[in-house]
Amino acid sequence: MKQVTILGATGSIGRSTLDVIRRHPDRYAVFALTAHSRVDVLLEQIPLFRPAVVVVGSPEAARQLEAELDGTCRPEILWGEAALCQVASDDAVDCVMAAIVGAAGLAPALAAAQSGKQVLLANKEALVMSGALFMDTVRAGKASLLPIDSEHNAVFQALPAGFRGLADEGVRRILLTASGGPFRTREPASLVDVTPEEACAHPNWVMGRKISVDSATMMNKGLEVIEAHWLFGAGADQIQVVIHPQSVIHSMVEYTDGSVLAQLGNPDMRTPIAHALAYPERIDSGVASLDLFEVARLDFERPDLARFPCLGLAFEALRAGGSAAAVLNAANEVAVEAFLERRLGFTGIADVCRRVLEHFGTAAVCSLQDVFDADRAARELARRAIAA
Ligand code: NDP
Ligand code: MG
Repeated sequence: MKQVTILGATGSIGRSTLDVIRRHPDRYAVFALTAHSRVDVLLEQIPLFRPAVVVVGSPEAARQLEAELDGTCRPEILWGEAALCQVASDDAVDCVMAAIVGAAGLAPALAAAQSGKQVLLANKEALVMSGALFMDTVRAGKASLLPIDSEHNAVFQALPAGFRGLADEGVRRILLTASGGPFRTREPASLVDVTPEEACAHPNWVMGRKISVDSATMMNKGLEVIEAHWLFGAGADQIQVVIHPQSVIHSMVEYTDGSVLAQLGNPDMRTPIAHALAYPERIDSGVASLDLFEVARLDFERPDLARFPCLGLAFEALRAGGSAAAVLNAANEVAVEAFLERRLGFTGIADVCRRVLEHFGTAAVCSLQDVFDADRAARELARRAIAA
């Protein structure tokens, strides 16, 4: 029986993870569930999954949970970042799903890596912010890292088991597919008027609001390029982004002999989640068979960096190295939040990111403190730029 902690259990990935776990009560037990603000969702999950511990974001949320829980299942209730790190590293835990959104997920994901857990990483921002430190922590802690992001999970599946590095395995390139989001064909001049509702209406995937906006700007693909760099040791020139509107091929690996291996499936995150939970075995995820006759055709396009400047900014940050990716990620988080709160226009997201990245450039990163310092400074400048 694998004991699992789910960081971000109330979110889109968290709920899909619980849906897979629910199908295999003989294999998985939930040690801890964490939420930030959605106490109502957590209240529904507790009697179904009977966690030993739950973590929420504030003392008020903890008191509300305490008051509304019925008597049959009463987990220990904790709150705050130290508690997130505690349930990610507890001796009783085998496997941690890191599915908190944004920089808030970094410390608990690192805690899981440090204590040698099987880390299922959905929280790409953690790796983007602190790639070198994160990978060093995984090695030092003897943790195993399994990508949940569908593209990286696909690449992982198309690479040989016991992967030793791209050169050793004869890999020429990684082809990261991208749906192109809801604005792939929209007239660029009309993007200034985009509303949060339009940006969050993704054609193929149902996701949290932040990643939905990132998909619409294609910053999501930019963050994924940086994520692929750290996970697979690929240089910026070895990663090609391919727009593939059907989202059926989740990514590909091209080998030196010209072979291209792809992983296909319906666009449903329960597939990569089930793959990583059971690895190296295979379990039912609840996802229907892929109907290729229904799909009928697969299209591919080159990404247009004029339409999607955020993708270009991410490549710039990757090439700059050091703190640049943490700076870009922080500026983007602040800009996306402002866009969702209607304080910033859609095209303003890329403008803010560019200004903040150009202002700070890059600096050496020697410690986690350097990462948090770069993150804080970038957030402050982004907030000032948006308020001005
Ligand atoms: P959601 O917004 O749906 O869920 C986010 C989760 O994080 C919620 O449980 C939320 O709690 C919690 N959370 C938010 N802020 C904090 C905080 N400050 N401290 C602690 N917990 C917090 O996001 P998704 O599930 O869509 O995405 C999660 C991560 O997975 C992201 O990094 C995303 O990029 C990545 N990912 C998502 C995919 C998807 O299909 N959704 C695909 C690939 C990657 P609460 O709701 O209780 O406030
Ligand atoms: Mg993805």
